[in-house]
Amino acid sequence: MKMCAQDIEFTLIRSDRKTADIVIERSGDVIVRAPAGLDDEQVRAAVADRALWVHRSLAEWEDLNSSRRHRPLVQGQGFFYLGRSYRLKFVTDADVPLRLKNGQWELSGAFFGREGEAATRKAFRDFYIAKGVQIFTERVRSLAPLVGVAPGEVTVKELGYHWASCGVGGALNFHWKTVMAPQTVIDYIIVHELCHLHHRDHSDAFWNEVDKVLPRYRERKQWLRINGAALDL
Ligand SMILES: [Zn+2]
Repeated sequence: MKMCAQDIEFTLIRSDRKTADIVIERSGDVIVRAPAGLDDEQVRAAVADRALWVHRSLAEWEDLNSSRRHRPLVQGQGFFYLGRSYRLKFVTDADVPLRLKNGQWELSGAFFGREGEAATRKAFRDFYIAKGVQIFTERVRSLAPLVGVAPGEVTVKELGYHWASCGVGGALNFHWKTVMAPQTVIDYIIVHELCHLHHRDHSDAFWNEVDKVLPRYRERKQWLRINGAALDL
C-alpha cells in the first residue's frame, strides 16, 4: 500500500515482525515493513521520526545513481567484465555476434548493421548470462560447503533491481549484471545468498554467518553500493 508522511512517499508492507523497518530499495523506492499491530497513524509517525534519515538516504541514492548512463555502442566504448573495463571494437571477420578476445570486445559490424542496437545489447546480455552460469555454478559449488548449505539450481537472469534472490528448495538466481563486478564482489553476493538459506532475513545472526565465511565482506558490500549503478550496459 502506498502511503505518505512528511513528504516521503513509501510502500507499506505488513509482516509479522516486532518493529518497523525502513529501507531505500535500489530502485529508489522507500519500503516500510511494519508489524501488523501498528495502525496507519503509528506507521506514519514512525516514518516521520526517521524523516531526516530517509531524506539523507534519498539524496545519497540520487548521487550514486547519477553515474547511471546508457553506454552508446561505439568503437572504443568500455564495457565491464569481472571488474575490468574492456573496449568495444567493431570487426568484419567475426563468426559470432560478440566475443571478448585479446582484451577487447569484438562486435561483428555485420551483425550490428543487420540486427540493430537492441539485438546487440541482447548479445551482450546473452554473453554475461552464458559466462555467468559457468562462474556462478562453480563458485557456488566451492562456497556452499563453507556456509554449510546444499543449494539448488543456479540461474543467471534479469532480476530488475535485485542482485540475487533465493527460491524455495534453495534455488539461487543472480542478476546478469553482477558478472560485470569483480570476482571478490561476486563471491560476496554468492555468500550473502547462501547465508539466506540459514536466515531468510538480514538479522545480526545472518550477518554473523556472512562474517564467518567472508570477514571482509563489508568493503565488498560497500563497493557494490557505490558502484552498483555503473554495472550496466
Ligand atoms: Zn539479503
